[in-house]
Amino acid sequence: MEIPLSPLDFARRARRLYGNREAVVDLGQRFTYEVFSDRCDRWSAVLQSLGIRQGDRIACIALNTHSQLESFYAVPQLGAVLVPLNYRLTPQDFAYLIQHSGSRLVCAHSDYLDALDSIRADIPDVEHFVSFEGARPGWLDYEHLIARTPPTFKRPEIGENDLLTINYTSGTTSRPKGVMITHRNAYMNVVGTLLHFPMTSADRYLWTLPMFHANGWTFVWTVTAVGGSHVCLRKVDPRTAFAVINDESVSGLCAAPTVLISLANAPEELRRSARRGVRVLTAGAAPAAATIQRVEDELGWEVTHIYGMTETSPFISVCESRPQHNALPPQQRATIKARQGVELITSGELRVIDSNGCEVPRDGETMGEIVARGNIVMSGYFRDPEATAHALRGGWMHTGDVAVVHPDGYIEIRDRLKDVIISGGENISSLEVESILVTHPAVQEAAVVGMPHEKWGEAPHAFVVLKDGARVTEKELRDFARRSMAHFKVPAVFTILEELPKTATGKIQKYVLRSGRAAIARQ
Ligand code: AMP
Repeated sequence: MEIPLSPLDFARRARRLYGNREAVVDLGQRFTYEVFSDRCDRWSAVLQSLGIRQGDRIACIALNTHSQLESFYAVPQLGAVLVPLNYRLTPQDFAYLIQHSGSRLVCAHSDYLDALDSIRADIPDVEHFVSFEGARPGWLDYEHLIARTPPTFKRPEIGENDLLTINYTSGTTSRPKGVMITHRNAYMNVVGTLLHFPMTSADRYLWTLPMFHANGWTFVWTVTAVGGSHVCLRKVDPRTAFAVINDESVSGLCAAPTVLISLANAPEELRRSARRGVRVLTAGAAPAAATIQRVEDELGWEVTHIYGMTETSPFISVCESRPQHNALPPQQRATIKARQGVELITSGELRVIDSNGCEVPRDGETMGEIVARGNIVMSGYFRDPEATAHALRGGWMHTGDVAVVHPDGYIEIRDRLKDVIISGGENISSLEVESILVTHPAVQEAAVVGMPHEKWGEAPHAFVVLKDGARVTEKELRDFARRSMAHFKVPAVFTILEELPKTATGKIQKYVLRSGRAAIARQ
């Protein structure tokens, strides 16, 4: 028998088995799986009554709310395609993405209605606008529609290779591309996640990660698959996050390293009273070993490091813990945990290859590009066959990430292809320099980029953000760097910034640093 693999099947099962359990908590509202599923069905019925058909695209601009979560079920169960957009983009970006995706309907959280109204003339193909929170002229009211529409609609046949979502990548360097994720892709990622990061219906998952980012790393469906509870969080500031973690007995969360840093550096009274034992999945950028160790030591949480990209649904490797790792002293264990690890059971094959396509030796030194092939790899970029062919050339997804392979087979990312700094013919890994700079007691975060240099062609330039109240001079930082790394790697210039420019998903925008537009700190 062959039944299409789809995360929608997890929702069917959750409703049947966990109907009375809490599915979602969002501010004061709490829905059981029965109520949540009924709301999803009503939303599907509304969409169908508005003329939405299989294959249509629906754009969604929302914070982590129950209505955003409901859309991850209501839209796909019609065979339609959800396009969750990054809410931190500009109105012009919204217009471009809505037009590019050909969305027929846009739904949005109240904070974004003005932005969307300001671009209506640029999105002529959108037929309906739905406001998730409250009525307004020109907008249909989500709650009102759901309340008055019975939960009946015609379910189409959905194939596992049908499109589930289009996720526009954050665009650190160029125009975003629409990653096409299929039902099968997402299903495989959910199963793989649960094999390596097991959860049960007792788990309470905190939405620190935006749901729009690679579908919340598929946790929009992963939590439902086990009948766990989704605890929504609209804005991540440490005080709110710690309060919700304690009040809602949160047991797990996903976070980019930048969020972990902000939690690990929160005021001591918050850290001291934080609930222990929270399991954290971190990805999106390389976490420093020091960050992992701080989170584990100071908060008593357990960190699992995972790596991937939107194009791979997103997980392609996990730093799987082995018994011999647990016997190591904390610092060494954290150093291993900071590696990106090995392929997941379900993600398919991962290789690190040189420019001839040959695998690099397992020596922990030779760098190569990470490539992957498996059931988690996207079907392509929406309306961009050229970019698709380039990314998937030779039958492998080319990640553009540069890694070494250690003798035990664990990969460690050293750079992104475009971020390698070539100084006087020597390759310098910006990540390596960054990870050393953050071990300075005054430094909270560091980013290193290549800048033109008269003598060396290119030289590293370090941008650092200091810890609250810390003071340090450029000379002290340079002396520290000279003591800690090969001299050719020492940044030629150090600049102290108020904060690093980042995308909504926590990636440092190195192009902003290169352009000299970042805000310099007043010392
Ligand atoms: P995105 O598609 O926006 O999630 O970005 C994917 C990119 O983020 C990857 O290609 C990597 O460059 C980076 N990335 C994701 N996870 C990690 C990780 N664990 N370590 C280092 N870089 C990462």
